[in-house]
Amino acid sequence: MKYESFDELKRACLICEKCSLCKTRTQVVFGVGNENADILFVGEGPGETEDLQGEPFVGRAGQLLDKYLQVIGLDRKKNIYIANIVKCRPPQNRDPQAEEQELCIDWLRAQTRLIRPKIIVCLGRIAAQKLIAEDFRVTKQHGEFIQKGNILFMGTFHPAALLRNPLNKPDALSDFQALREKIKELNIQI
Ligand code: SF4
Repeated sequence: MKYESFDELKRACLICEKCSLCKTRTQVVFGVGNENADILFVGEGPGETEDLQGEPFVGRAGQLLDKYLQVIGLDRKKNIYIANIVKCRPPQNRDPQAEEQELCIDWLRAQTRLIRPKIIVCLGRIAAQKLIAEDFRVTKQHGEFIQKGNILFMGTFHPAALLRNPLNKPDALSDFQALREKIKELNIQI
């Protein structure tokens, strides 16, 4: 279905019952940020705090993400948009199943069509494998820019994974700095 506006899309998404995650969610976590942003960040799905608050990346992992964003002049309230592959929390924070991802991805596709980002940053394996390549390996390919159609994709570590394994934090920071350089190179106004 084609949506004419973000509000129309959001209204439809907030009542979605296409997959069984609707039975265990508190609410749909649609996304947050500037709907006209040139940069879109995509994670895998809401966790417990996100499910309760209705906003992506608001727990400890979200605070870490906000720090990295701040270092390179990005801000979810101003110049980026943040969404997830699945909009409802998988129980016990398990990985979203392939079928759930497939049923939910149309919402992200519709968001992407309306936002029309120039760069999409995939946060973690699930998002990178869904949007960049099925065999994407974050530890090996993080920070690489890959052109697909009109959009430049980059995969990096999920902030929750960085909390579990802080040794990868310097690599993640380099990815964000590479993003900053790419934004300058493409003359993207942020
Ligand atoms: S996860 Fe996506 S497809 Fe499943 S109910 Fe939620 S919004 Fe709908």
